Amino acid sequence: MIDMNHGSEAVYGGAANASVTGRINALIDDALLQRNRAQTPRTYLGGSRIGEPCARKLVYEYTRTALDAGKGFDGRTLRIFDAGHQFETLSIRWLRAAGFDLRTHRNDGEQFGFVTANGRIRGHIDGVIVGGPDIGVAWPVLFEHKALNSKSWTDTVKHGVQRSKPVYFAQLQIYMAYMDLGSALFTALNKDTQALHHEIVAFDARAAQALSDKAVDVLRAAEHGELPPRIAASPDFYLCRWCAYAQRCWEGAV
Ligand code: SF4
Repeated sequence: MIDMNHGSEAVYGGAANASVTGRINALIDDALLQRNRAQTPRTYLGGSRIGEPCARKLVYEYTRTALDAGKGFDGRTLRIFDAGHQFETLSIRWLRAAGFDLRTHRNDGEQFGFVTANGRIRGHIDGVIVGGPDIGVAWPVLFEHKALNSKSWTDTVKHGVQRSKPVYFAQLQIYMAYMDLGSALFTALNKDTQALHHEIVAFDARAAQALSDKAVDVLRAAEHGELPPRIAASPDFYLCRWCAYAQRCWEGAV
């Protein structure tokens, strides 16, 4: 009789598994990177990016300046983005099941969004809630979703989106301004536990105006071939250490 257990061990043992894992993951990551490369690059300043603290970085992004070597998205990051979209789909399904009339696409099938500054600033929103159970807001409200790791989610719950995630808060303000909405429902999902945090954010006209002015400054600088000042005096600044343009940005400056 064939020893099935022995055979299983030989085929599925630790070293063989590691090798299969490595090979399959490399194939998946290659496919994702290929898909990412095939996407048309943005020719506009995204509304979700205006809250980025460094205006110089926004100019690099808007002018499609090449990233520093080795700083492009890797397969793992692309998988995280894809997972974020799946979590968003789930949260939308749950909110609809709870009675919220959450719309994500127009009648023609296009995602809701806005275009301004002659097409140079654009944004696509996660959705708009036009009705539902009483949660103390007047409909319609902007809907924005983020899937966060546990640490980031806990910080958001503790401090609120404005303090914990100022870039997301800016995104909400810009989206409300251009979509003409007076409030937003920000939903954050904990990717480890699927716990949900919901926060109502009111439109802040002053904050939105400051962000809009900043976007105009970024466009003006980019179109005049100028680079705004660096956000820090040293490349050791935490935002510069993470920045994909740091080498280019600081070359010859220190
Ligand atoms: S390296 Fe720092 S200063 Fe330069 S673009 Fe990036 S964040 Fe801004």
